[in-house]
Amino acid sequence: MERYACRHGLKSADRLTMRAALIDMDGTLYDSMGYHSIAWQSVMRDLGVDTDRDEYFLYEGMTGKAILNLLLNKYFNRDVTDDEAVELYARKAGYFNKMPEVKPMPGAKQLLEHLTACGVKCVLVTGSGQRSLIERLQRDFPGIFSREKMITSAEVVHGKPDPEPYLKAMALAGVEPHESIVIENAPLGVRSGARSGAFTIGLTTGPIPAETLAAEGADIVLPSMMALAEGARALTDID
Ligand code: CA
Repeated sequence: MERYACRHGLKSADRLTMRAALIDMDGTLYDSMGYHSIAWQSVMRDLGVDTDRDEYFLYEGMTGKAILNLLLNKYFNRDVTDDEAVELYARKAGYFNKMPEVKPMPGAKQLLEHLTACGVKCVLVTGSGQRSLIERLQRDFPGIFSREKMITSAEVVHGKPDPEPYLKAMALAGVEPHESIVIENAPLGVRSGARSGAFTIGLTTGPIPAETLAAEGADIVLPSMMALAEGARALTDID
């Protein structure tokens, strides 16, 4: 905490007040990244390219179009067209929706309920445009995220790792960067959160090691959402 205060020019850690939690969805609230990777892998196989499943964890957090642009440049040496991006992202969503229903991350509900009870505003910040998951939020975490408390791929020009999604979430919540925490599991998401100026918590819920999240700017790295939920009382004591 002191390192964060120092880095952001705050006079002391005592000045930190958490008023909003800005929370990533895939791999953070939902144990969905394995399925997303398989869906992307299937799309690329349709295009005649065999890819490693772990590759997609590195792109996590980017918008679907940005991922497609990266993949087509990497494997076909060209940009994705707007029409292709729509068609291929719909295909990817189709593969994803055929898989078994993803489960909420253990500890996610407890954390969200605790933060809400403490008066902390919770805002969802996702690069996803996957309607099926966004709609499920209401069912799995009732009363936490209204449609007005979400920043999705539709609301941003520059997705993660740009800080824009988290800066927009702060504007939505009416808070300053030093009043915000970001909860993320992906390297590019952590970079986005750290660049926004929020206190950024990295969770190692996938194959990405803690050192990578720390190198992207995570102020602390925890091994799971459950570990964060259990430590939430200490976090809510920071004001
Ligand atoms: Ca994520």
